[in-house]
Amino acid sequence: MNNGKITLAIIPLSTCAGCENTILDLEEKLFFLADFIDIVYAPIIMDSKPPSSVDIAIFTGAIRTDEDERKVKVWRKKCKILVALGSCATLGGIPGLANLTTVEDLLKQIYVNHPNVQNPRGTEPNLDIPKLVNQVKILKDLVKVDYSIPGCPPPKKLVEKFFQAMINGGEFKLPDKSVCDECPLNTGKKKVMEKIKRWGIDPVDPNKCLLEQGFLCLGPVTRSGCEARCIRAGYPCRGCMGPPKGITDQAADMISVIGSIVSLDKIEVEDLMKIKDLSGSLYRFTLPSSTFKGKIRRKLNG
Ligand code: SF4
Ligand code: SF4
Ligand code: SF4
Repeated sequence: MNNGKITLAIIPLSTCAGCENTILDLEEKLFFLADFIDIVYAPIIMDSKPPSSVDIAIFTGAIRTDEDERKVKVWRKKCKILVALGSCATLGGIPGLANLTTVEDLLKQIYVNHPNVQNPRGTEPNLDIPKLVNQVKILKDLVKVDYSIPGCPPPKKLVEKFFQAMINGGEFKLPDKSVCDECPLNTGKKKVMEKIKRWGIDPVDPNKCLLEQGFLCLGPVTRSGCEARCIRAGYPCRGCMGPPKGITDQAADMISVIGSIVSLDKIEVEDLMKIKDLSGSLYRFTLPSSTFKGKIRRKLNG
């Protein structure tokens, strides 16, 4: 506490800074929070030295480097409450898809083989920068996490509710229903999929469930809390809130959902081949926290 206020640090790991922007997006509510919470360290937002202890440490981003690992362990000792904010910190997020390859291949692809790169000597960055760890990890892999708020970026309302709970001493819980439960296109009737369609190529009916139309919408296997914001904006759910309570592996459950709603009279195996980049689409945000993470790790490491 600092002058009766909760002290807060917002610590970036391997992040795009979108999660920090969600906090800044609270706009006028930030002034209300400022009466109770003192942001004492947040390198992406302001310039200050790291304090020796804080009440709450919020982490954004995935654990991609040895420096990320060190930061998480150090801050766990310095804070009372540790929070993983955003899909990267809670589930692995987009950076977690890199776990489908090795660090060596990843660096070659980015610094040597990428079509926009000219690097005839094949030099890779190696001095004065944090070393990449073999696999992207999530905070829970390293330390005890007190609260997780997923989303890419996390929904503003959930972030606000979290701060309210910390101020009032109340409980903070994630919603445990699915995006379909919040979706304006959900009729409540059993879904039937008669075609497989590709987003961006095939025409969309804005008034009909996207999954029933044949688009890959991860709403049935994704935690609610975002108010189905992508569907309301005209896009399918890509699963950024991760699986809801009761689902351990978002991708495996989505395959099961598709299996249970496809009309076998109308859909051929060739139609299923239209679903491109299946692992990237189904594990877009969750690969490092998925059931298969260990298997992939063992396979890549021989
Ligand atoms: S969760 Fe999304 S917004 Fe947050 S750091 Fe990761 S990529 Fe950026
Ligand atoms: S599958 Fe997608 S479009 Fe259909 S009800 Fe669920 S969230 Fe809405
Ligand atoms: S609709 Fe899906 S992808 Fe979009 S914000 Fe919600 S959970 Fe994330």
